Amino acid sequence: MQQIHYDAIIIGGSYAGLSAAMALARSKKTVLLIDGGQPANRFTPHSHNVITLDGAKPGDINATAKKQVMAYPTVTFVTDIATIAARTPHGFNISTKNNLQYQGKKLVLATGWKDEMPDIPGFADCWGISILHCPYCHGYEVKDQPTGIIASGEPGYDFVKLISNWTSQLTVFSNGLHHFTEEQLAKLQQHHIPVITTAIKAMIHEEGQLKKIILADGTSYAITALYARPAMLQQSEIPQQLALDITEQGTIKTDMMQRTSAPGVYACGDITSMGRSVANAMATGSVAGAMLNKELIADAW
Ligand SMILES: Cc1cc2nc3c(=O)[nH]c(=O)nc-3n(C[C@H](O)[C@H](O)[C@H](O)COP(=O)(O)OP(=O)(O)OC[C@H]3O[C@@H](n4cnc5c(N)ncnc54)[C@H](O)[C@@H]3O)c2cc1C
Repeated sequence: MQQIHYDAIIIGGSYAGLSAAMALARSKKTVLLIDGGQPANRFTPHSHNVITLDGAKPGDINATAKKQVMAYPTVTFVTDIATIAARTPHGFNISTKNNLQYQGKKLVLATGWKDEMPDIPGFADCWGISILHCPYCHGYEVKDQPTGIIASGEPGYDFVKLISNWTSQLTVFSNGLHHFTEEQLAKLQQHHIPVITTAIKAMIHEEGQLKKIILADGTSYAITALYARPAMLQQSEIPQQLALDITEQGTIKTDMMQRTSAPGVYACGDITSMGRSVANAMATGSVAGAMLNKELIADAW
């Protein structure tokens, strides 16, 4: 068993975690990043809506970020999965899948979401390529195309309204009974947006580029872009182990300084916000790193 004491241990070494590490490294702090190498956007060929990086490949953004952070000699990066976080008199003890243990004074969680793919053949193959979660990330690239949206109920209605900005060729697939009100249905009709309730059977695609949606009754729709919001799951059980407060939406509750409800534990990136974007992950990671550094200074003062 290996035991090393770091100023901060960051679990999750993607956009948020690396940003937190940079702020800490530039404050002369020793940092351990533990990362499983599964950033949420790894399925998409190009990332958008981040100035200076518009259209960059996610893997390239990550590689450059990692190279810049690792240039600071006080940063250590391990590829592993943190499995258990336990509080100790001096901070935290982190156990990993590779059966290693690390000790840090403070903890940053930047573990992101795991998207749960629905059981529809072809869906996962198109995810991030032509099946999209966010119009700000990929809407411009598919603007004015025949577009579908899997949506129902109040949040679905809001999503349809938003997506109508990018295309007038919009079809709603509720994939079973819809939960729109009469008023909402009338409004959708007014905007020439049909609502299809028949269950979706499969996505027909070529290398992730959607060509058709096939329904259970055999009918098909020539759709080349589809918006969907599959269930998002926490990638890690550590927030539960530390009994962190969680919001109604399932994100980790933090204050403006990215402090969680547990002393010495910070969180940043997707797991702390419904505004899912690389820019937000970088911004909240940077705040977490700086505020954690301030806490370390105060502890030692
Ligand atoms: C398909 C898709 C396309 C997207 N396109 C865009 C886009 O074009 N523009 C944009 O701004 N945003 C885009 N996003 C959103 C963007 O990917 C996320 O907002 C961003 O990745 C969040 O960064 P993060 O660091 O919080 O989490 P992530 O990037 O998801 O990284 C979390 C990291 O934590 C690691 N991890 C998790 N649990 C553990 C553990 N227990 N131990 C060790 N490591 C762990 C994971 O392996 C992963 O490396 C897209 C998202 C998706 C799903």
